[in-house]
Amino acid sequence: MRKWTRDGTLETIDEEAESPDDPGPGPVGSNPCHGRWIVIWVHDESTFYAHDRHKLRWVHSSESAKPYAKGEGASLMVADFVSPDYGWLRGKTGYVVIAVRGDASADVSCSEDSARVLFKAGKNRDGYFTNDKILEQANHAMDIIDKDYPDNNHVFFFYDNAKTHTARRPDALSARYMTVKPPRDASSNFLCIVKDRDSTTRKVRMQDGQFLDGTSQSFYFPDSHPQAGLFKGMRHIIQECISHGANLPDPTKLLAQCHEFKCLPGATECCCCRIIFNQPDFVAQKSKLEELCESRGYRITFYPKFHCEVSFIEQC
Ligand SMILES: [Zn+2]
Repeated sequence: MRKWTRDGTLETIDEEAESPDDPGPGPVGSNPCHGRWIVIWVHDESTFYAHDRHKLRWVHSSESAKPYAKGEGASLMVADFVSPDYGWLRGKTGYVVIAVRGDASADVSCSEDSARVLFKAGKNRDGYFTNDKILEQANHAMDIIDKDYPDNNHVFFFYDNAKTHTARRPDALSARYMTVKPPRDASSNFLCIVKDRDSTTRKVRMQDGQFLDGTSQSFYFPDSHPQAGLFKGMRHIIQECISHGANLPDPTKLLAQCHEFKCLPGATECCCCRIIFNQPDFVAQKSKLEELCESRGYRITFYPKFHCEVSFIEQC
C-alpha cells in the first residue's frame, strides 16, 4: 500500500511486513505489494455562499467604500468522496456534473460515473440533506467502486458531526424511554416509531438484543406468556441478562433511572437505564450508514469533526 510521508510525497509500503497477521487475499494485478491496496474515501461536504468572498486591492484616496449585499446569500452544498490515491470518486468512463434536483425527495441525483451531489439546502429549495440522501449517495459511490475499483480494499470515512451521518434505524437498540416494568396492556406498550417516506408513522417492536452467551434476547414476552407481546420492562431484561452470565446487580433494588439520566461520572450500574445503556449489544449498535456499507463489504469509520490532523480534507 501507499502512505504519505512527512515531506508530502507517497511511498510504497510492504503491506505483509506491516501486518504479518493479515497478508490480504494474495497477489492482485501488478500490485508490487502482493496484497490489496487500502483506499480511503473521505466524505467531503462543503457549503458555499453567494456573498462569501474577499477582495483585497489598492484604492484611491478619493474612492469611497461600496457596500456589498448583507448576509451570506444563497447556499450551495457540494457533497462528494475524495481519496489520496484517486482524487474525487469518478468512474473510469469519465464523469458528468450532475443536475440539481428541485425537490425534497430522498432520491439523490448522481450522474452514472460521479458520486458528487449538488444540493440547495433550505426551506422552499431542495429541503434538507437527510440520512436517506446520505445512504443513497453512499450506495451510488459503492456502485462506482464495485464497477471500476474492484482490486482494492475500500474504507469510507465520514464525520460524526451530523445526525444525518450517525442516524440509527428506528428499531435500533436504545435504552432511552424504556419503562422499568411491563405496561398494563397493549395500548401503552413500549414500541419504536417508524416514519415512512410518505410521512406516515407506525409502531414496531425494538429489534432483539444479544446476551453475553451469543443467544438473542427479545424484549417482548413470547406468545405463550400471559403478557404475550408486551414489553418486558428493564428489570426483567436485566434479570434475563444475569441468568445468561452477566455480572450485574439485582435490578429490583435499583431506580429505573437517575434524575434526568445524569448519573454520577463513571457510574455504570447506578440505575436500570444506565446498566442497559452499557450492555455490549447496546454499545455495539451501528448506524444505518455503517450497516449499509458493511452489508456491501465496505469498512467504514467516523472522524472526529473538523480534525485537521487525522483528515486531509481539513488541511486546505
Ligand atoms: Zn444512573
